[in-house]
Amino acid sequence: MNIVIFGAPGSGKGTQSEKLIEKYGLYHISTGDLLRKEIKAGSELGKIADGYISKGQLLPDSLIIDMLAKLLDTTPETRQGVIFDGFPRTIPQAEALEALLRDRGLELSAVVGLEVDEPELIDRLLKRGQVSGRSDDNLETIKKRLDVYHSQTTPLKEFYIANGKYKAIHGMGSVDSIFESITRALDGCAC
Ligand code: ADP
Repeated sequence: MNIVIFGAPGSGKGTQSEKLIEKYGLYHISTGDLLRKEIKAGSELGKIADGYISKGQLLPDSLIIDMLAKLLDTTPETRQGVIFDGFPRTIPQAEALEALLRDRGLELSAVVGLEVDEPELIDRLLKRGQVSGRSDDNLETIKKRLDVYHSQTTPLKEFYIANGKYKAIHGMGSVDSIFESITRALDGCAC
């Protein structure tokens, strides 16, 4: 099973990914976490990433796609199934993901779309900002990230509705009740 967990910043992708990994034994690929590791390590990619992330902008597609291709090729555990968290974020990334999987004899099973109201997103991100130490969890950058999400990432919803993979999940309520909705949607699909 290869899944994309999809939703706005603050929609709970990371939280629900942890639970999905536990239940389905998937390998977690969070592009945000990978980039923050690169920043911490002071690598070339980290230096580039830092500039984009602290401004709330997306990195160029090619950098992200190359990073993922390398990871898939050097991590045998990804063959057990992957949960993609924070990727794809643009239509070219979604097309690249199809090709990356196809070239390796794999396929995307489903896209779990966490749908959360905007005031709730801002509230969650501001709360996280008090403890995360993330350079992008402040009001100005949160607003920018939400703008970027609306303009560049939401078109993916239509893309995945059109190919029948999108599972809409109401992402408000308790972590456990949201997780239950997700497992119900996944257990009910042929994936
Ligand atoms: P969130 O979903 O809360 O915004 P992430 O950790 O997924 O947090 O992403 C943080 C930042 O990392 C993004 O705002 C962006 O700058 C960068 N990033 C992560 N994934 C991608 C991607 N697929 N394409 C481009 N930039 C990305």
